[in-house]
Amino acid sequence: MRGPGQWQHRLRRQGARWTVPRRAILELLSRTSKHLSAKEVYGSLHRTNPGLGLTTVYRTLDLLVRMGLLNKLSFGSGESRYEFRSTDEETHHHHLICMQCGKIIDYTDFVDEEQELVKKIEDSLAKKHGFKINDHHIEFLGLCPECRG
Ligand SMILES: [Zn+2]
Ligand SMILES: [Zn+2]
Ligand SMILES: [Zn+2]
Repeated sequence: MRGPGQWQHRLRRQGARWTVPRRAILELLSRTSKHLSAKEVYGSLHRTNPGLGLTTVYRTLDLLVRMGLLNKLSFGSGESRYEFRSTDEETHHHHLICMQCGKIIDYTDFVDEEQELVKKIEDSLAKKHGFKINDHHIEFLGLCPECRG
């Protein structure tokens, strides 16, 4: 099960209602590979959803992060950005985030090697804490070439 059916199921399972804003935001973010801020999400949705306010966008984004459907990327004092959290191996990536300009680079080229390391760490964490790990989210914070000057 993918797309709206799956999202609806996940929200319901976690006791959340399936609402128009939730659906609109998930549809928007699942169709783009960009990392959008709450204001950008609001900007692209308010024409087709005139009743949707910025406050609802913020609240909905945070709810969807808690439900595990979106990733939230934060850096320094800048605005948080959101991306759709895919469970697809093919689109799995890690992030390099510039703390000065907020540029976000998605990379996949080293992910295979990192995955082996992460798997080892996940196994020992699982043992130590009796925790079942389903996913991870890796980001490195620093300065991009332009900001390094
Ligand atoms: Zn930068
Ligand atoms: Zn990303
Ligand atoms: Zn990974």
